Amino acid sequence: MKRFILIMLTVGCGANVSAQSVAVRGQFLTDSVSVGQPVKYALTVRYPSAFLLLMPDSTFKFEPFEWSGRTYFPTHTENGVSLDSLVYQLTSFEIDSIQTLAVPVFVVNKQDCTAVWPENDTLFFSKRVFQLPDSLSANALPLRTNTDYWKVPWQLNTILIALALIVTVVGLTIVWLIFGKRIRRYWRLRKLNRQHLAFVRQFNQQLDQLQAGYTVGGAEGLLVSWKQYMEQLSEIPYTKFTTQEVKKINLNTTVLANLTKIDLAIYGGIRPDSIQVFQDLKAEAEKTYHAKISAPKKIQKTTREYSTDEVMKFVHALQTLPCPVCGQKDNQLNGTKLYRVWSIILFTSTSKKLAVACPACLRKKNRRAALFSGLLGWWGIPWGLLRTPQYIYLNLNSKRQTQLSQPNQHLIQFAQIYAPYIEKKMNDEIQLMEFLKSVNS
Ligand SMILES: [Zn+2]
Repeated sequence: MKRFILIMLTVGCGANVSAQSVAVRGQFLTDSVSVGQPVKYALTVRYPSAFLLLMPDSTFKFEPFEWSGRTYFPTHTENGVSLDSLVYQLTSFEIDSIQTLAVPVFVVNKQDCTAVWPENDTLFFSKRVFQLPDSLSANALPLRTNTDYWKVPWQLNTILIALALIVTVVGLTIVWLIFGKRIRRYWRLRKLNRQHLAFVRQFNQQLDQLQAGYTVGGAEGLLVSWKQYMEQLSEIPYTKFTTQEVKKINLNTTVLANLTKIDLAIYGGIRPDSIQVFQDLKAEAEKTYHAKISAPKKIQKTTREYSTDEVMKFVHALQTLPCPVCGQKDNQLNGTKLYRVWSIILFTSTSKKLAVACPACLRKKNRRAALFSGLLGWWGIPWGLLRTPQYIYLNLNSKRQTQLSQPNQHLIQFAQIYAPYIEKKMNDEIQLMEFLKSVNS
């Protein structure tokens, strides 16, 4: 609005109306100008404070200069006389050797307004090229060369970096959600293989030493190595178990007899008749290792009907196993269903998976599934928004089922689905535990 008013005034003001009591002074703050270089022009006006004055803004023609800005100073009034001043920043692209300018102020009257002009002020044009040739080829132009390194301030493109980061995170999440299980399995097998090779190397070395010269310490060392490795493999605390306690774990009778013989060697000083006892221990470790790496990726689910009695027999076999997660045997195992949901924009993936473990571990698994859904479920329309609260609720509400002392519906369902495999491995506790681990993972 102000700009509009000023334009009208600029057009409508008569140039030859004088206002004697208004003193205007306009001058450049430098005496020369170069092409494109900004110069400052100061305009000051002294006038009776009863007057209303207007000073030009960007709509005024500052020819031959171009407007690029201005700075105001507050009005200073003393004894009825006001002083106003402002500084214009102007740029010239003309190459005239002398360039002049006068910027007026406007005194507003009742009917019209009066322009009051200062005296012209002059700038000298400062040349950069002194002799201008008539014609010249491009490579012979008298241009100054400068091959110095020009330091440009480095700017961090935060928006681009944030976008790249988001794309990377979303990409990695998708890869993990699709291939995560396979990647984990690959690393797990790799680690198992390395551990096994290290065990075999160390065990053979210790066995060679024992053959070279029998000592009680050597026999004990072999037993410790074996127990440590078996503990790593099966997550059963062999190193803390005595032979009597180890007997409670479903190991074959040869191994148990050998453990007794080794005990006699260590504590009774009775040397075993051959090193075969240690060879058998190694064979047992190898068997456990192979059971672990060959745990089926996908179990053939049942096709034939099993009777309730048969299913309950399988349920019982599962219930009495050590927990495949924490290894404890104090509480009977039970089942749960893990509800997971994750979404990206319009895509939502849901899964319901059975798991078998001790009540405490099942509770943790359900909580983890709720957290997973709570973090990754919401980000899809519309199913992500609808399924996420439902799945969080189902996970947290499963506590009642997992804390039952009786086998719950999930464990029975699990036994029904995997009946053929459980039936085949009924008497092999280690294989069954490995099976539970692979299904739970
Ligand atoms: Zn557990």
